[in-house]
Amino acid sequence: MTKIEIVEVSPRDGLQNEPDLVPTHQKLELIKRAAASGARRIEAVSFVNSKAVPQMADAEEVMMAIRGETAFRQEGIAISGLVLNRRGLDRALKADVDEVNFVVLASETFNKRNQGATTMETMRQLGEAVSVARAEGIPVGLTIGAAFGCPFEGEVPLAKVIALVEQAGAFDLGEIALADTIGVADPLAVEQRVAALRAALPGVPLRCHFHDTRNTGLANAYAAWRSGATTLDASIGGIGGCPFAPNATGNVATEDLVYMFSRMGVETGLSLDSLLAAAEWLQDEVLKKAVPSALLRSGGFPSVTEPARVCV
Ligand code: ZN
Repeated sequence: MTKIEIVEVSPRDGLQNEPDLVPTHQKLELIKRAAASGARRIEAVSFVNSKAVPQMADAEEVMMAIRGETAFRQEGIAISGLVLNRRGLDRALKADVDEVNFVVLASETFNKRNQGATTMETMRQLGEAVSVARAEGIPVGLTIGAAFGCPFEGEVPLAKVIALVEQAGAFDLGEIALADTIGVADPLAVEQRVAALRAALPGVPLRCHFHDTRNTGLANAYAAWRSGATTLDASIGGIGGCPFAPNATGNVATEDLVYMFSRMGVETGLSLDSLLAAAEWLQDEVLKKAVPSALLRSGGFPSVTEPARVCV
């Protein structure tokens, strides 16, 4: 396969753990910068309890601002919203999302703490969500979070992931994703779980979501692509912490992924220069702190600018 699709998740996963609230107009600018960099799928918001995730309290306002930008739909840019249950789905549809990302966690303890329900109850609500959204022409994808490990239960057995995948097979899903929510996957585990998922749900497009918490993000992304995942999530600047790993870095940086795949001759459709400008803006103007991106420190290669002096 000579291409990979990248979903930009910085406006949602990237920002959601930031303690200082980012104003709605800067969220819109981030989304516009992602779109201008070539992103054709952007996870803009989550429709969750604003007490639990205050950064997402303006989800409806962000969506309203996006819908004021007619170019998004003209250019075929799909805006998605993350939901954890039926209530979130109703908000997402009302806010006019183009796609819904429904999440279940592959751990009973984590699912209960995150969505206040058993995985069985969450999967029941997924079934409802798919039929309600489909009636409005909106595709629903399922993300299986903590698919490689859980902050409460430790190792997550492959059998638990596959059990959820098999339940999901009953629904008309637009996509299924494995998410390494706490950044504990390794490339062989990615190969094994992607292969198992493809065997269980042949024909359903497969996305992977990696956090670079322990510096395995790029290796995992490569393993996912080699194993047949068609889509990867990434975040400009590599922003986004993890509430279960204080001081951890966030998602794999979009520009780091784009650099690696471009060097390999794999098409991403994204502009590295434009992504780097967006990462720099995020760092200097929005978050006002260093972002984890490697490419922002080093620049791409080959570079068109001459180095200031020779390093020996
Ligand atoms: Zn995440």
